[in-house]
Amino acid sequence: MAFVEFNDVRKVYKMGEVEVAAADGMTFSCERGEFVVVVGPSGAGKTTLLNMLGGMDSCTSGSIVLDGREISTFNEKQLTQYRRLDIGFVFQFYNLVQNLTALENVELASQICPHPLDAAEVLAQVGLAHRMDNFPAQLSGGEQQRVAIARALAKNPKLLLADEPTGALDFKTGKAILKLLQDTCLNTGKTVVLITHNSAFAAIADRVIHVREGRVASMQVNPHPASAE
Ligand code: ADP
Ligand code: ADP
Repeated sequence: MAFVEFNDVRKVYKMGEVEVAAADGMTFSCERGEFVVVVGPSGAGKTTLLNMLGGMDSCTSGSIVLDGREISTFNEKQLTQYRRLDIGFVFQFYNLVQNLTALENVELASQICPHPLDAAEVLAQVGLAHRMDNFPAQLSGGEQQRVAIARALAKNPKLLLADEPTGALDFKTGKAILKLLQDTCLNTGKTVVLITHNSAFAAIADRVIHVREGRVASMQVNPHPASAE
């Protein structure tokens, strides 16, 4: 059994009389430790895929399995536990708590999971040893995203999910963030699933999932992915 499995997953949103199939039979799998990039045009269903994988959204039908557990059968309580313990999230707009320092933001992880990593150590790993006592407003966009990545990693999650993590950053800073995520995957063996609408990022992935109109249009495995440098 693969580490992640989506089997004919559908997600239908009802808007009055109208039904929108944001996921219209998604099927794919990926292995532990892979750097997975999900690409596709706006509205294709990428965020829907990631939210269902992260337990933030339930599917209408089909099955979703992570590490042998069928999360698509989980109730609300199980999903809350799953989000807390198993998943680290990174968003486009960082979602840091503005009145907490970088260190305190990362320490939040220890309040919701039983075996957090040391916050200061994780901040050092993402290159921010010198910024621990700064507040988000004192940090650049790239630095704020590093704090957000540290916060996600401090939970020591099974899966790191990133939705357009470079979307608010300039090209050079964005590349450095991608390199950090790629290195994290290589050095810690964590599985990373990253969404982008920029298909140029496909070259750095172990696996590329092309989403189109709510379906996985194609998938490609790169035996020798390029470095994000
Ligand atoms: P992407 O991330 O690829 O841009 P999304 O997963 O956000 O795509 O959206 C896929 C489709 O589902 C779009 O047509 C979008 O409008 C629709 N959709 C997403 N979320 C909702 C929602 N909460 N209610 C209604 N429609 C939605
Ligand atoms: P990065 O490439 O990491 O995003 P920048 O080149 O944007 O960094 O910024 C370099 C330095 O300037 C950073 O160390 C940061 O502390 C500071 N800086 C950048 N933007 C801001 C800002 N909006 N407010 C405060 N300091 C900033």
